[in-house]
Amino acid sequence: MDLKNYIEIVEDWPKPGIKFKDITPLMANGAAYKDATDKIVEFAKEKEIDIIVGPEARGFIIGCPVAYAMGIGFAPVRKEGKLPRETIKVQYGLEYGKDVLTIHKDAIKPGQRVLITDDLLATGGTMDATIQLVEQLGGVVAGLAFLVELTYLEGREKLEGYDILTLMEY
Ligand code: 5GP
Repeated sequence: MDLKNYIEIVEDWPKPGIKFKDITPLMANGAAYKDATDKIVEFAKEKEIDIIVGPEARGFIIGCPVAYAMGIGFAPVRKEGKLPRETIKVQYGLEYGKDVLTIHKDAIKPGQRVLITDDLLATGGTMDATIQLVEQLGGVVAGLAFLVELTYLEGREKLEGYDILTLMEY
């Protein structure tokens, strides 16, 4: 199945000059969403993953069905002020803007093998920040999985040394 048929490219959104890759048509198509999920599940099984972590909001869309399919847990990474209990935080730079990401302090047990999921790898800033959170809690980042990689932004270089699965490249 060619998953690129289910990605819509939106010119000049959310800012002029950006060609936004909209994944909602993929999510809306049951066969395409299942195909993408199955491929990530296969990768996660190879890596003997114990728990999935994903940054809001699209990291949830990718990671939660994988966690369900494997019968393992999912821990959310959220913007500051959104998680109700004690958190740790990290500041990071985005393709457009700056932000803080947080995770519950007890979300990961030391030594757990973690797969981090997101919809898209651009500069790698979001993933780099998420990795820092997981590692600060003692988690082992055993893999990173994305639907889409924007290769021209070279996010992969920022994530050197990690095992990365991407299902589509632009
Ligand atoms: P990065 O931190 O790698 O520069 O940017 C990736 C993050 O921004 C991801 O969390 C992703 O959801 C969001 N993002 C940036 N550009 C796009 C895009 O074109 N399409 C989608 N769906 N998300 C994007």
